[in-house]
Amino acid sequence: MVVTCKLCGASGFLLRVDGLGLCDECEGIFAIELRQRTRTIEEAHRALSSPVDPETALELWELIRQNARELLVYEEMDLPIKPVPSRLLSEVSEAVDALHVQIVRERVERILTRAEQADSNRAKSRDACKAISRIEPARQEIEGDKNPLDELESRVRQFCNRVQFIPFLEAFR
Ligand SMILES: [Zn+2]
Repeated sequence: MVVTCKLCGASGFLLRVDGLGLCDECEGIFAIELRQRTRTIEEAHRALSSPVDPETALELWELIRQNARELLVYEEMDLPIKPVPSRLLSEVSEAVDALHVQIVRERVERILTRAEQADSNRAKSRDACKAISRIEPARQEIEGDKNPLDELESRVRQFCNRVQFIPFLEAFR
């Protein structure tokens, strides 16, 4: 009977494949890669379970994403992998989105706090514009729900309106 290796596509009467459908060579390659990548993923998960700053957390999630993407190829060939790469990738997307929101929210809060303290309305509205410009790049990064950014942006716009119109109204008082 002609057998074909799932991974390299080699086939022949003399070829032997294991229970997963891999030839001897691929069986070894798959085992090593699976071990290394799952170990990296586990280590990154472990690092994430202790408190880390959002930028470091992003790097760790990216590391998980890279490795899960490489393993996804094997999942698509129906090779057994735990944790399941496709599930891992959706977990990464959610976590990364939440981090991008957290990072931009903290930046915007800082800018608005500074704007509140600025002594002129011109400086206040300049800072507020700066805060809006920080939100746009995050919009590009976020794959899923962009609602938290819309809320943040509307808060900044309200601030803008307030600092732009209050002096205008005061002038007419
Ligand atoms: Zn093979």
